[in-house]
Amino acid sequence: MATSASGSRLSAPWLLGIAAVLLATLPLFKLPAFYESFLYLILHWIALATSWNILSGYSGYFSFGHGAFFGLGMYTTGVLSGKLDWPFLATLPVAALVAALFGIGLGAVVFRVGRLRGELFALITLAVTFVIATIALNTPIDGGPGVYLSSVPVPTLGSLASSSTFYLLALAVAFATLFIAYYTQRAKLGLGLFAIHDDEDAAEVMGVPTYRYKLIAFCISCGLAGIVGGIHAVFVSYVTVSETFSILVPLYVVLMSVLGGTRHWLGPALGAALVTVLLYAFTGGEYAVLGRAVVGLILVVVILFLPNGVLGALLSRFKTRTPITDPIVVEARAALAPAMTGVKDDVLLQATGVSKSFQGVRALDNVSFDIRRGEILGLVGPNGSGKSTFINCVSGHYRATSGRIRFSGVDIAGLPAHRIAQRGIARTYQIPRPFPHLSVLDNVTLTAMFGATAFNRRAAEAEAMHWLAFAGLADKARVLPGELNLHERKFLEMARALASRPSLVLLDEVLSGLTPSEIDDAIRLIRSLRDQGATIVFVEHVMRAVTALSDRIAVLNQGKLIAIGDPRAVMRDPEVVRAYLGQTEGAAHA
Ligand code: ADP
Ligand code: MG
Repeated sequence: MATSASGSRLSAPWLLGIAAVLLATLPLFKLPAFYESFLYLILHWIALATSWNILSGYSGYFSFGHGAFFGLGMYTTGVLSGKLDWPFLATLPVAALVAALFGIGLGAVVFRVGRLRGELFALITLAVTFVIATIALNTPIDGGPGVYLSSVPVPTLGSLASSSTFYLLALAVAFATLFIAYYTQRAKLGLGLFAIHDDEDAAEVMGVPTYRYKLIAFCISCGLAGIVGGIHAVFVSYVTVSETFSILVPLYVVLMSVLGGTRHWLGPALGAALVTVLLYAFTGGEYAVLGRAVVGLILVVVILFLPNGVLGALLSRFKTRTPITDPIVVEARAALAPAMTGVKDDVLLQATGVSKSFQGVRALDNVSFDIRRGEILGLVGPNGSGKSTFINCVSGHYRATSGRIRFSGVDIAGLPAHRIAQRGIARTYQIPRPFPHLSVLDNVTLTAMFGATAFNRRAAEAEAMHWLAFAGLADKARVLPGELNLHERKFLEMARALASRPSLVLLDEVLSGLTPSEIDDAIRLIRSLRDQGATIVFVEHVMRAVTALSDRIAVLNQGKLIAIGDPRAVMRDPEVVRAYLGQTEGAAHA
């Protein structure tokens, strides 16, 4: 759904622009201030919820600290304009900056720690809110009595009232936030964030700079919340710690976003408008509590029956009725694969003394060998002999405990996984790990954008379609990976690895579980890859395929390399035969 509503792609920013201009003329009609204030509140919540969603909805890092960043904005403007007599408007960029810098500081620590995902991230951000509240309360920032801003001059346009100023400011910020959310979703950043949402470790291995992306999204999200807070401080004209840092702000933005739909840039805005109107409809005196109860009830119903929110449900209904007439799908089957070139026979990857231990288990034990450019190297060995671990270490999924891995002359053993991917190493997972909420096409587009070649979106989609067609999946481009069978998921893994145009492809048991005829298809596929010049490490149990494809074979046993060289000679090696004794799996397929 990351790139959903393809039909309305071009028009969305225009529609937004037109809506913004029309709404900006409203003050000319001199409506009673009440209406402007009510619209202000809707826009206020639209901006807050949408800004929250840019990190939390897209990447799945649910923050309960949005109130903290909003509050930092409120207090920045509060102190600057209320205590230091800065002009109101001049405080707003500072409010954004303070909140954004604070977000960067917090993110720089929290995002580094792999464990702080999910509930822990939510709790930490919530805790930070209380820390900031305590600091504000016990320092001259607030000190206890709150900050009065009623005497802060509010600039007005011509003969318009100050309520118009707030309305127009909120309108500008809300629409700017919507534009940012829209472009983020469409951009490389958005695709990366959606991949982080689904499987952060796999995203990193596919080339997504996960740490940097989370930081950027958090910075944008916090900065926008800060500016909303700055405006709101003068709007309410009295800032207190208990109101500002209450749990209600994060609760409402989460509620609004989930209600509207977190996977679409417009979802939170829809949710914000719905909730604000509903709450207002019930605030006529004694019904206020009832209003909250109704909103809560609606949220429960939505979570139960509309997991993608109101907008998500509407869009998917609309989508199933739209036939797929995508030009990319049609044009993709043309051109032959672009050659992955290189001089044959020089060393592409050199592993020297690579070891990897898991709590005492030596999964890889001092493994050294070369991979030559342009070859298919069969990597075999009994179950648990360390084949997948080798791929995990080379691709950066795990860091080797010791040893060096040189790729094209550069030591990659210590590099973050996304840098390794960008250098031209791509892999498949033994158990397929597609991003479940991205379409098959987006799954492959992702590696084309983030991998070695770093195509722009349009070129990446064409490249992705090319490899999907190559893997026989072109007609499944628009479905979600959950609808694929095992064979198709394995081939999706392959297409995803190839779309980055890597110079080295690591295939981890892409044939296991396939029927004999599917295996024949795959053998043809891999052979044609080699003919295009790719270097392939091919981990496999199906010996028929290994001997049919491999230029050389390397054998691992209990983490040690026990043989490498010509396939026939290696398979006759007495130590190799011994290692395979009792291994029925290889024999069954042979
Ligand atoms: P293969 O792919 O050859 O079947 P693996 O590389 O998956 O073998 O595993 C090699 C050894 O390392 C096994 O003993 C396995 O249990 C262990 N191992 C692999 N990954 C982990 C992990 N994440 N945590 C603990 N042990 C692991
Ligand atoms: Mg394995």
